Amino acid sequence: MNIFAPMAKISIDINSGTIQKESAVIGIDLGTTNSLIATINYKTQKPYCITKNNKSIVPSTIYFGEQNIIVGEEASKKLITDPNNTLYSIKRLMGKSYHDVVEQSNQLNYQIIDNQDKLVQVKINDRFYTPIELSSFILKELKSVGADQLNKEIQKVVITVPAYFDDSQRQATRDAGKLAGLDVLRIINEPTAASLAYGLGLDKEESKIVAVYDLGGGTFDISILNIQQGIFEVLSTNGDTHLGGDDFDHAIVNHWITQHSITKLTNSDRQLLRITGEQAKKELSSNSKFKKTIQISNKDLKVTLNREELENVIQPIIDRTISICNNALSDADISAYKIQEVVLVGGSTRTPKVKNSIQNLFPDAKINDQINPDEVVALGAAIEADILAGNRTDLLLLDVTPLSLGLETIGGLMDVLIPRNSKVPSQLKKEYTTSVDGQINLAINVYQGEREMIADNRKIGEFILKGIPSMPAGIPKVELTFLINTDGILQVSAMELRSGVSQEVTLKPQYGITDQEIKNMLQESLSFAQSDMDKRSLAESTTEAKQLIYATQKFIRENKALLTPKDIAKLDEIMQGLTQCINKKDQNAISSHIEKLNEFSRPFAEKVMDHQISKALSGKKIN
Ligand code: AMP
Repeated sequence: MNIFAPMAKISIDINSGTIQKESAVIGIDLGTTNSLIATINYKTQKPYCITKNNKSIVPSTIYFGEQNIIVGEEASKKLITDPNNTLYSIKRLMGKSYHDVVEQSNQLNYQIIDNQDKLVQVKINDRFYTPIELSSFILKELKSVGADQLNKEIQKVVITVPAYFDDSQRQATRDAGKLAGLDVLRIINEPTAASLAYGLGLDKEESKIVAVYDLGGGTFDISILNIQQGIFEVLSTNGDTHLGGDDFDHAIVNHWITQHSITKLTNSDRQLLRITGEQAKKELSSNSKFKKTIQISNKDLKVTLNREELENVIQPIIDRTISICNNALSDADISAYKIQEVVLVGGSTRTPKVKNSIQNLFPDAKINDQINPDEVVALGAAIEADILAGNRTDLLLLDVTPLSLGLETIGGLMDVLIPRNSKVPSQLKKEYTTSVDGQINLAINVYQGEREMIADNRKIGEFILKGIPSMPAGIPKVELTFLINTDGILQVSAMELRSGVSQEVTLKPQYGITDQEIKNMLQESLSFAQSDMDKRSLAESTTEAKQLIYATQKFIRENKALLTPKDIAKLDEIMQGLTQCINKKDQNAISSHIEKLNEFSRPFAEKVMDHQISKALSGKKIN
């Protein structure tokens, strides 16, 4: 089992020791245009989307009314009647600064402001909102839809994000969850969730290369995944954040405008044409012909479209997605023939021409299109939540290490070898040396955590590298290797490279760390950041001071003949002062005494050096 990411323990109440079956298992797809919430049916073990008024889709639209804030379907209607107080596409702003998004700002109907280069804010009704706050409104709505339908408290959730989201965008999503009163068990990639919905990655023996093609209303993404032993590795991801089904609608509208030689259009005419265009597109996914009479400029207009016409007008848009797929393939250094499965995500993949084009691009791939492409991501998120809740103990899902792994170095400091969020499996090597002459054993203490001092982290094991041949301090080269294997077990090996002496240990703590503990440890690492840094500098200065005293004493012993008793007494005096400062843990005093000792001993070191050079030269003949 995975000891560092003990997902199976998350839903266990540590105090009572009971598994909290009552809390609902929830997956959330927080989308640019639409969001969904899904859970698991315990009888069938299958995921399903929770619906409100028979609809699973909650538009990611927020309306700021005079009295209250409305999210979803009702808010979407306000886009036409009260656009100034209605927000959409908030996801595009997540984790971004003003400068990141200012170029796109003309495509948004709302005003964004520069908060001194920190995260962008949105101005509405003289109030400023961060995208995190705005997303939390959407999450709160999903939470209440879930709570109403399931009659259970919604707390622990898995939220999906695009694979290309960076750390700050992921963090912003996590924060939005927190603000909505949710306990975000994990943020997972949308393509990973979609693959999970099709059962990909659930079989530990399976090894597959999968493409996830996601064409929504306004965005396009392609991700190439390598799924091996339950590990999802994103080989490459590519996309266009302004390419999608909306472009199909515009292309249809332009086709009609040309066909009917329309020259003048009011805003509402344009709106009506766009809605009709979308309707035509959707109908043509299952029918071969579309016709409708609409009122444009107070006159009847009969618009028609057949499958072939539709395919002609949208071909250039589909071609753009195909060329992005080719870029993703070349980034992953993989041929299209290597793709074994394709997962379709996003409403626009219902268009038959899109499916055909994908099959042509990936000739040997099985196309997975049976699950509703609007729901597939949320359904997969619910499966992940179920695994994390410990309800599928047969499954092993590994992805990243939740906490850093490292070892104790001199002064009680934590030296991180595998940082938190490293992919599993992971391996890292680092060289160390001894701090004392003739040291033949080296104690290796392994810790997990984010704090600077090992005393604040969790010890997970120890071993001693024995039998290092006696050498002066700093000469042995001890190479340490940390390896987390696919089972999440840490193997630490140490080898002294000059002598070949080696030792290895497999660390299997009896228990893992619960998500709450991880959260606490991360929170502490933030709140103690300053005092940790102070402790670290004190520890570093203390180590430096002790090493300097050790080296000075050795220097005095070896070079007594070149020093006067007065010099030796003065050196002893400064060393005593330095020892007192160490005992008092006074960092500034330690630093100034180190300086003083260095100052005073420098001329002797130079004298000894001169002596040694002249001794060396006297034995040699210079021609
Ligand atoms: P999403 O952002 O994933 O909800 O995708 C919404 C997009 O899917 C919109 O552009 C819709 O017009 C489009 N869409 C929904 N249903 C269909 C359909 N049956 N055929 C073609 N496109 C559709």
